[in-house]
Amino acid sequence: MPGDRLDTQVIVVGAGPVGLLLAGELRLGGADVVVLERRTAPTTESRASTLHARTMEILDSRGLTAALPAPPNDLRGHFAGIPLDLTLPGSRPGQWKVPQFDTERLLGEWATGLGADIRRGHEVRAVTDTGAYVEAEAVGDSGPVLVRGSHLVACDGEDSAVRGLLGADFPGHDARRELLRADVAGIEVPDRRFQRLPDGLAIAARRADGVTRVMVHEHGAPAVSRTGPPTFGEITQAWKRVTGEDISGGIPLWVNAFGDAARQLARYRHGRVLFAGDAAHRQMPIGGQALNLGLQDAFNLGWKLAAEATGRAHPDLLDSYHTERHTVGLRVLAAIEAQALLLLGGPEVEPVRALITELIGGEEVRTHLAATISGLDIRYDVGGPAHPLVGARLPHTPLAASAAGWSSSTQALRAGRGLLLGPAGAPDLGAVLGGRAVPFATPAAPDSGTASGTASGTVSAPDRAGWTLVRPDGHVVWAGPSGTPRGEGLPAALDRWFGPA
Ligand SMILES: Cc1cc2nc3c(=O)[nH]c(=O)nc-3n(C[C@H](O)[C@H](O)[C@H](O)COP(=O)(O)OP(=O)(O)OC[C@H]3O[C@@H](n4cnc5c(N)ncnc54)[C@H](O)[C@@H]3O)c2cc1C
Repeated sequence: MPGDRLDTQVIVVGAGPVGLLLAGELRLGGADVVVLERRTAPTTESRASTLHARTMEILDSRGLTAALPAPPNDLRGHFAGIPLDLTLPGSRPGQWKVPQFDTERLLGEWATGLGADIRRGHEVRAVTDTGAYVEAEAVGDSGPVLVRGSHLVACDGEDSAVRGLLGADFPGHDARRELLRADVAGIEVPDRRFQRLPDGLAIAARRADGVTRVMVHEHGAPAVSRTGPPTFGEITQAWKRVTGEDISGGIPLWVNAFGDAARQLARYRHGRVLFAGDAAHRQMPIGGQALNLGLQDAFNLGWKLAAEATGRAHPDLLDSYHTERHTVGLRVLAAIEAQALLLLGGPEVEPVRALITELIGGEEVRTHLAATISGLDIRYDVGGPAHPLVGARLPHTPLAASAAGWSSSTQALRAGRGLLLGPAGAPDLGAVLGGRAVPFATPAAPDSGTASGTASGTVSAPDRAGWTLVRPDGHVVWAGPSGTPRGEGLPAALDRWFGPA
């Protein structure tokens, strides 16, 4: 059907939060993008409502948080339902409550404003990777549409059609246990954060609009193989058996169940097809980590794929997406599995819970778990010199007055082009950058309210007299001492991460 063919550089399948963030990042990196989305309208389900510290920093570094409706911030988090103080140095510690439809609206408007072509009502049914390009066949309102691009990214969620079409290896296990959940109007039950009762686990949270979200798990109850949501009756009966309360007179507004399945793609890249978000990993949605992990996948991938699709990338750049994000995913999924075991386990897990509760009281364990949950401890293996900042994200760093008028590194990163930090008045900068459009700035003096001397997350602030090279996703790939930036690895790091001069 050549007449119906649409050509682009990158095809994104799925306009969930991950696909939308990716689409915006691709546009920021200069790539053309078509997003194919099965749904005709955005979701209205609240779904994941927690954004963690690193995700908020990411959104800040694209200037996006101002448009969120003042999200409530809470430093109280949990590990498997055990209270955990999420206080950490950084610009956005804690968790931020944002219903998923607000996150999607924000990202959708941003991506569209940057020129992403989002086509709703288009379900992808076939994907072909010819080796030279990739084609997706979608069924749209007015019949089939063929889209051709240099790459395709599957952001089509936990039941990813693209994963199935490619027969991608997705090792792990199915759900063994599950939590039943309902948003219910017209009931009066006490709020419970994670109440462990003799027969199970009960959670209840009443929202400002009077609707109560209840979640329940009966000790020992196996996950049910489902083709749709549970009935409200299943939930009220389980609730009665666990708490003794009758909520059957309530009005169920949204009913669902989620299990402790854990799977991760063996490879996030299959030739010209890549996977991100729930399409790449399945995990129990405890504490919003699934969404945050997925958004961070997109943020890692977008600028790399834009550079590849527009012919600017070093040959190894795109493969670093799998290396970096598969490693992070493995670790986060293991932490989620540990939480699922402790949360859904019966009385036999109580001694382990008691021990962890005791350990969390110690600052080292608390900060370790808080940094993992917040995503602030991520350190990619980027090569480069041994330095506390290399591989970690650059903490929010105030800048000295610059020609561009940036007041901080967060603001300087908004153009999506990375950042070179160094002392003002350095000679030879143009020669070192070799025509690459990497913005340059100088950190502010410590006495002007800088982050100097403070630790942020698990890393320290950049050395004001030295040099720091930051990728578009905010991760530091090279840091060097004062003196000329020539030699000492900076040109090689620029080649590796920003393409040839
Ligand atoms: C019912 C439900 C409740 C959840 N509750 C929570 C929660 O309480 N806490 C939590 O942390 N997480 C929760 N999650 C998980 C969280 O919503 C996901 O982690 C997050 O949405 C992942 O984003 P994504 O963009 O990867 O995938 P999705 O948000 O699933 O987006 C995938 C998109 O791809 C589209 N799509 C699928 N197939 C095709 C196709 N063939 N062609 C075109 N488009 C396609 C879909 O319509 C969808 O819009 C929940 C998920 C669901 C489904």
